[in-house]
Amino acid sequence: MTMTVLRGGVVHTLDGSASRSAIAFAGGRVVALGPAAEPLAREGGATVVDLDGAVVVPGVNDAHLHAGWLGARWPHTILPASDTTPSPLSAEPTLQSPAERAAALERTWTILAALGITSYTEPGIGPGEDDGTGAFDTQMLEAYLNLHNRGVRTVRVTLLQLFGRLDGEGTLRALRAGLARALPHTDRSWLNISGVKVFADGIPPLRTACVSHAYDDGTHGSLLTYDDEHERAREDTLAEMIALVHDSGRQLAVHATGDRTIALTAAAAQLNGAARSAPPSYIVHADMAGEDELAAMSAAGLGATIQPLIALRTRAWASEVIGQKRAAAAWPIERILRTLPFATISSDAPVVEPDWRRALDAALTLVGRDDVDLRRLLMRAVTAAPAVQDGAASWKGTLDVGMAADAVVLSADPLEPGTPFPEITVRRTICGGRTVYAAD
Ligand SMILES: [Zn+2]
Repeated sequence: MTMTVLRGGVVHTLDGSASRSAIAFAGGRVVALGPAAEPLAREGGATVVDLDGAVVVPGVNDAHLHAGWLGARWPHTILPASDTTPSPLSAEPTLQSPAERAAALERTWTILAALGITSYTEPGIGPGEDDGTGAFDTQMLEAYLNLHNRGVRTVRVTLLQLFGRLDGEGTLRALRAGLARALPHTDRSWLNISGVKVFADGIPPLRTACVSHAYDDGTHGSLLTYDDEHERAREDTLAEMIALVHDSGRQLAVHATGDRTIALTAAAAQLNGAARSAPPSYIVHADMAGEDELAAMSAAGLGATIQPLIALRTRAWASEVIGQKRAAAAWPIERILRTLPFATISSDAPVVEPDWRRALDAALTLVGRDDVDLRRLLMRAVTAAPAVQDGAASWKGTLDVGMAADAVVLSADPLEPGTPFPEITVRRTICGGRTVYAAD
């Protein structure tokens, strides 16, 4: 068993215990911390990394990232930073062949390794997009399976299937047919096809989120869930879809941004025992979750994955259609992180760049405070909390002894108030005990 020892720095395990000066990995796991790790550096064949004051944290887990799509578009994002102006894309890129799909994934995996990301959720791959761009279709699932079967292990993937359209409508019939199909066998610690993504509504800036107070043009948005076989209200179809996914034993992720959609999702999830499902159910985005919706989500056992960088870049746009007051109240980041059973911060790349440092910087800006307690909460929202979302908190997401050897070495301490997150550089990324990125 080869031993790797990182010593002479600061190790934040993020499991609630104090920081240590060293950490040792062997067999893909953390085997020792602090003074207990030091003597292991003298073992024959041990790889020793002198941290020279650098900081080790658990590998980052981007809880919502479209890797195939990101690889096809990179470096172009939908909402670029104002300080970067890549030439606009004339058309959405398409992936035609298996080789192109694999190349898109591998391009993304290289980008993720350099950012310290060791896990992510690919949120929506499947037959619903078989006539689409190639980034979300059944063949993209094949690309994932091929890389997995070839033994490529640089990042851990949780994958949600998509039986309706991406950002579009989905039928009860398509969901039922999709759930009836058997899943391929995989090593779930590396490729876990955990569940299903259901699109319940759109987004507030486009007036497609389903809201209780009308937009500036008098509309309220409508649900995307429908039954093409029976006359049935869209909210009843959403409830039926949630019940179907829960009954299948799979993970449920519902794209819900409007307050009405969130309330309907929480009500249906509570009826169907979302709290008992494993991996747990959650809402994607939750932009307009207010006190009542957050209470309903908590009661139903629903978590959330939120995107502060998108919130920051779309706030002015959103306030034009939902009003300044409601836009300012949207995405109550700290309340979401502190009150829900679990809540994660993700990028939704390629909507924005997959850079957790910019996402956490945006969170600090939106919360309007900077202290060590808040920073610990934010760091856990990209490490420990996503492991809960993955149903994997027992073996990844923190650096306690026995946990997965997924870690990132940073140039500065992300828990130190006043340290700008974007200025922290990634020196080394370790996934499953192997170095998958080194800056030098
Ligand atoms: Zn997304």
